[in-house]
Amino acid sequence: MHTSIATVCLSGTLEEKLRAAARAGYDGVEIFEQDLVVSPDSPEAIADLARELGISLDLYQPFRDLEGVDKAQFQKNLTRAETKFRLMARLGIDTILLCSNVGTATMTDDGVVVEQLRRLGDLADSYGVNIAYEALAWGRFVSEYDHAWDLVKAADHPRIGTCLDSFHILSRNTDLSRIAEIPGEKIFFLQLADAPALTMDVLSWSRHHRVFPGEGAWDLSDFLTRIAATGYAGPVSLEVFNDSFRQGDTNRTAVDGLRSLRWLEASIADTIAAPTGSASAAEPAGPSTALDLQPLPEVEEPRGINYVELSTDDLGALTRQMHQLGFQFIGFHRSKPHVQLWLRGEARIIVSEVTDGVGTGADAGGTSSTSADEAGTTSAPVNGTFLRGIGFEVTDSRSAMERAALLHADEVPRDQAHNDEVLRGVFAPDGSEVFFHQFEKATPAWIQEFGHDHDEQVSHIDHVNLAQPSNHYDEAVLFYTSLLALHAEPSQDVPSPSGLVRSQVMSSTDGSVRMPLNVSPQPHAEAVAGRGIGSVVEAYPEHVAVACEDIFHAAATALSRGLDFLPVPQNYYEDLDSRFDLAPEFLQQLQENHILYDRDEHGQFLHFYTSTIGSVFFEMIERRGDYRGFGAPDAPVRLAAQHRKNAQLSAQNAQMSGQQG
Ligand code: MG
Ligand code: MG
Repeated sequence: MHTSIATVCLSGTLEEKLRAAARAGYDGVEIFEQDLVVSPDSPEAIADLARELGISLDLYQPFRDLEGVDKAQFQKNLTRAETKFRLMARLGIDTILLCSNVGTATMTDDGVVVEQLRRLGDLADSYGVNIAYEALAWGRFVSEYDHAWDLVKAADHPRIGTCLDSFHILSRNTDLSRIAEIPGEKIFFLQLADAPALTMDVLSWSRHHRVFPGEGAWDLSDFLTRIAATGYAGPVSLEVFNDSFRQGDTNRTAVDGLRSLRWLEASIADTIAAPTGSASAAEPAGPSTALDLQPLPEVEEPRGINYVELSTDDLGALTRQMHQLGFQFIGFHRSKPHVQLWLRGEARIIVSEVTDGVGTGADAGGTSSTSADEAGTTSAPVNGTFLRGIGFEVTDSRSAMERAALLHADEVPRDQAHNDEVLRGVFAPDGSEVFFHQFEKATPAWIQEFGHDHDEQVSHIDHVNLAQPSNHYDEAVLFYTSLLALHAEPSQDVPSPSGLVRSQVMSSTDGSVRMPLNVSPQPHAEAVAGRGIGSVVEAYPEHVAVACEDIFHAAATALSRGLDFLPVPQNYYEDLDSRFDLAPEFLQQLQENHILYDRDEHGQFLHFYTSTIGSVFFEMIERRGDYRGFGAPDAPVRLAAQHRKNAQLSAQNAQMSGQQG
């Protein structure tokens, strides 16, 4: 599949955009006019650069407001078009995007438009240029793809074809069945964008909220399958107008986009065969395509979370809290003395101690003190207590890693002791490490590296709640979808004292992996990215939720061991009583143990939180019945309590420094 990206998707200068596209591995780009106009480089120099970088210039865009106008205006428009055709010759581009008229059109008559398209085609022919006519969703008279196709068909000119753009089509909820009527060779260009489901005017939606395929709410696999079945063989190009992408790191956005195309391509590669493919006589021949679709090694949903790795420069506080929660210290890693294993049943926490920025991660978890974040740069090791990585149980760790590499994820570098289990992983967009752990029914072999025998508690990691910087949020959704086959559930907004927290759960179908991703409000957003790429102090807190069989027993143990519970206000319990009409003894029992409570038609949810150490805290939970949520009504209570706690701490610190000063 010939992959392409519109330069408007990326930040930077035109030269930087071309270099980023080539570096990420696209086959070509669409030149957005504005990028050329502001560039100090001549069209010839741009063409030379593209040649040198090995990428094709697939499209020049946009040309606006040509058709549906009176004769005099049309003549002027042709003259304007001709200057662009000359420019395209200098760039070596043979296809131009013509948007349906949004401004100057005065004639609704299809016959006029057809005639004008034909005359444009004649002019284009003398320059060897192809016209890809696209219905903008807010076009004045032409706003539907099938209307644009009817006009192109009627124009019946070899230089006039159509451009299909998923945004303009899917945003209008147009019936897609007529795509099948368009011969592939009359589709002159294909642009893909996804978008979140929003209710707003379509122009603003398009200009600010487009995202890469897999990051929004639409079924782009179905869309591309339909295009592929027409016989279309041209570029599959991303055209995404998005405010964050345009201010984000150029290389990073380019990679994010290419990942979306590779994932999408692979998602349909198996269902649609190449025309020369071997359709056996027994099977009816499915649709075929000229797109040369490349599959990826398949990945199944993860079976569970094998372990979570925490890094800390406050080993005493962290391990004390884990002990209070009923975790048992198992041992030190045999070849990495700064790495410990703690267990509570099947909940496994690896703790790697960092002292003065020195400490090179865990055994089963990552081992790097570096991050391959932006453009493979290496940053200094960091202090603090933070969530370093997650080990996912996958059915085939080797193909999961291969797939991740083909999806352009950066591998976590690690130094492996020769006799330790080989474990490979990649960096997630938020800087945390994702390890692919081979699923096995028995207790994982690696824990013997810590001298473990057995543990009788029934417990496991229920979910891991990760904070995401807002500008990498869409990228994170695609990352977990494409690499781990997790599903994005609809997002929710949770009020907190410092702003609304957007929360979206990534999960496996059976719920064995649940990861709420929270977009932290400013000013925390930058701090979150600190994991591995700067300071983690003051980061928005993340948590590991541990499921247990008896929350009251767990709370009693924690209380007797002196756990610093996150305090829950009296008002909460009064409200709880009014919402659920609980038995007085039960309500009292909840309150005495700092336990929060939720209930739905499937079951009940009981949970308590610890205080935060660095940027990490724990949640102990008990699910009763088939409750599948996370106690969403309780999240604002938790956020407010953490806010109060932070305020107290800052006041204490201020007082201390005041005394010192
Ligand atoms: Mg478009
Ligand atoms: Mg939670």
